[in-house]
Amino acid sequence: MNDTKTPVIEIRGLHKAYGQLEVLKGVSLSAHKGDVVSLIGSSGSGKSTLLRCCNLLEDSQQGEILFDGEPIKWRGQGHSRHPADKEQLIKVRTNLSMVFQQFNLWAHMTILQNVMEAPLTVLKRDRDQVEASARTYLEKVGIGDKCDVYPAQLSGGQQQRAAIARALAMEPQALLFDEPTSALDPELEQEVVKVIKDLAKEGRTMLLVTHDMRLAADVSDHVIFLHLGLIEEEGPPAELFRNPKTERLKQFLSATV
Ligand code: ADP
Ligand code: MG
Repeated sequence: MNDTKTPVIEIRGLHKAYGQLEVLKGVSLSAHKGDVVSLIGSSGSGKSTLLRCCNLLEDSQQGEILFDGEPIKWRGQGHSRHPADKEQLIKVRTNLSMVFQQFNLWAHMTILQNVMEAPLTVLKRDRDQVEASARTYLEKVGIGDKCDVYPAQLSGGQQQRAAIARALAMEPQALLFDEPTSALDPELEQEVVKVIKDLAKEGRTMLLVTHDMRLAADVSDHVIFLHLGLIEEEGPPAELFRNPKTERLKQFLSATV
């Protein structure tokens, strides 16, 4: 189990390329239990790729990924390197639940079914218990009255909150958010921001890719600025946002505010 000294997720010197395109060029990060680590940077800097590498949705060519202190075992080399141990892969995926920009809810399932699906099929939990906790998570994100409707009947903000409830239902050790508010109108963005802030206050471990600098400043323990596949600058939010050291971060912040 996780103690306070062992990071939930740790990445050491990760390299990732798509064919000839080198997207990550030696990136390291760690998130301990209760940490909120935000990733910021321009479009194309590798933020989504890094997040996807964390939960092994992507292979990588070089570097180490440790989950709960346990190094991921790899098979093959270079572009054919991939996780070797299926059980380990499933353990990492189920413990690092991802929330996507486009919600990715299953359109043919009700909201309740969306939240229940993975705990039932992946974790093989008891149906009554899964349903009760799914309802609790939907209450928690403020859409307890939407259990029986389909995703298309909800606003974007409600859909994203359903996606967060679905991620929580896996009882993961950490949540990975990939621009969770980017697809939303400003007034709907705030209802999702509130849920993320509540989760941060609860002490959830989170990796958060966001374009919302105010959100990153409010919730993060640590902020990482990625530029062209490398960490250009990182630190506590107060320092990074108030006193950026590199020209690139200064430029990025002045362009985003
Ligand atoms: P960000 O999330 O910071 O905008 P991404 O991680 O999505 O950046 O992308 C980083 C770079 O990798 C971009 O140049 C993008 O076009 C490229 N890329 C992302 N996914 C793929 C893929 N599946 N195949 C090829 N190139 C990709
Ligand atoms: Mg992205």
